[in-house]
Amino acid sequence: MPNTLGDTGEKQAIEALIQLFDPEGKFRLGDDCAIIDMGTEYLLVTTDMVNQETHVPEGTGGRLLGWYAAAINLSDIASMGGFPLGMLFAMGLPKALDTEYLADISKGMKDCCEQNGAKVLGGDLKENPTISISGTAIGLVGKNEIMLRNGARPGDKVFLTGRLGNQLAWYESPDAHNLEPLLKITPRLKEGQSLAQSGVVTSCIDLSDGLSTSLHHLAKASNVGFEVETESISFISGLSDADKEKCLHLGGEFELLFTAGPRAASVLGNMVSGTQISVIGEVVDGPEITIIKNGQRSVLEDRGYEHFR
Ligand SMILES: [Mg+2]
Repeated sequence: MPNTLGDTGEKQAIEALIQLFDPEGKFRLGDDCAIIDMGTEYLLVTTDMVNQETHVPEGTGGRLLGWYAAAINLSDIASMGGFPLGMLFAMGLPKALDTEYLADISKGMKDCCEQNGAKVLGGDLKENPTISISGTAIGLVGKNEIMLRNGARPGDKVFLTGRLGNQLAWYESPDAHNLEPLLKITPRLKEGQSLAQSGVVTSCIDLSDGLSTSLHHLAKASNVGFEVETESISFISGLSDADKEKCLHLGGEFELLFTAGPRAASVLGNMVSGTQISVIGEVVDGPEITIIKNGQRSVLEDRGYEHFR
């Protein structure tokens, strides 16, 4: 009988929480943001936490850490097509922390928010044995523009923004002096807004925990399956086949994965807001997710990042 979080893992624990808080699924707790009906628009609210032990490599500068804590939250606003309004940050920090480091964290948060059209609206500061930053982002999206996870239909194409592999390249040869490839995340806000306004997107999610995990989330929410071709995914140059395989499951990339009708590719072109997009596969009847590599088909398991495992 499992009785610790280490036994159940993050996904099963979240599933139990959703069952408790929203048993009838009225509030869409499984989406990237909470959705609040404001009349003509939806208010989007999301929260995501960064902890020293699990997210912050030794030697991370405060500015980069603050940027990262803001960016991962704004990415969830992006995945629903929203315009960010502002952010709050609750920070647990050690007593011995250099005040300069806190100043740098704050500057990083401010930079990321301002460069993405948001403001830092407030927060909370508490003593804690290690650094822990919980961000909350607030945004708005038009009611007929919002992108959810549940609209993918068989016959739709599957799209991915950007290129995968920056995270892997860093992990293969870690450079403690350059942590930007890991933490200087660009939330795909302009891309998300353009996609939402195009009116052709049927479902969307940000990658955060890896492509395989995000495909599984979309498949479950939309009650469909996917066929994805490795050769159609854009990777950074210089990756071996084994590297590309690892990239399918590696978290931290924060690209947008979305589906749209078969003719959408001609509406969207190869770029969204200056960012490359690739058609990586097709939506099929569920629930299986198939990966096709050199013509060989296999089941793509959900092997992305999971806390407590
Ligand atoms: Mg997300």
